[in-house]
Amino acid sequence: MLYLISTPIGNLADFSHRAVSVIHACEYLLSEDTRRTRILLNHYDLKTPLKSYHLLNEKKRIQGIIDDLISGKILGLVSDAGTPGIADPGKFLVQACLEHQIEMRAIPGANAALSALILSGFTTERFQFIGFLPKKKKKRKELFSECLDYPGTTICYESPFRIGKALADFSEIDNQKKIFIARELTKKFETHYRGTVKELAAFFDTKPPRGEMVLVF
Ligand code: SAM
Repeated sequence: MLYLISTPIGNLADFSHRAVSVIHACEYLLSEDTRRTRILLNHYDLKTPLKSYHLLNEKKRIQGIIDDLISGKILGLVSDAGTPGIADPGKFLVQACLEHQIEMRAIPGANAALSALILSGFTTERFQFIGFLPKKKKKRKELFSECLDYPGTTICYESPFRIGKALADFSEIDNQKKIFIARELTKKFETHYRGTVKELAAFFDTKPPRGEMVLVF
């Protein structure tokens, strides 16, 4: 059995009782960032061993993991933070489990995209999540144009190092579009920015704050 276990996106208290008991029962945990996961496990006094599982070793590791699962071991997958598989490694392992008819269970919990969506005030009836914005300006602008045709809310992730450029590109397409940016969700310096793309582009151009961010429009 493979458990896909969500972990906190900042505040360590955002971790379910079920996640703690499942991790306790796991033979080992596959973790994207073992140092970060160790801090979480220590906080909950969990001694489960950790094995690294990230984008660079994902494909190489899969056979060994599948062998362990076929032999009946109970394993858990956690990402760096939040829900594994959402802009995080996990997809290949899930596909491999499906191919080998290995049972999986999701342990729900924190996710930055959905937290930002519900804070945005934009419609939650229909929404799309597009992961990280492309790094290249041309691709980014094409994607923004595509999203403007989408009849619902769009959620995406962006690095603090590119947010200013991304908003500048967006304002070249539609500078009056309303946008919400959630920064450092669940953490001490959580901040919410609301305005038009033009207003936030100007703000992020002059005072670009660092930290993890989600864009919703
Ligand atoms: N699997 C994670 C989830 O369920 O949200 C997402 C992982 S993805 C590699 C990391 C990105 O998620 C960050 O660059 C940022 O855009 C967003 N993110 C993660 N934690 C966040 C937080 N506390 N506040 C705002 N955005 C966050």
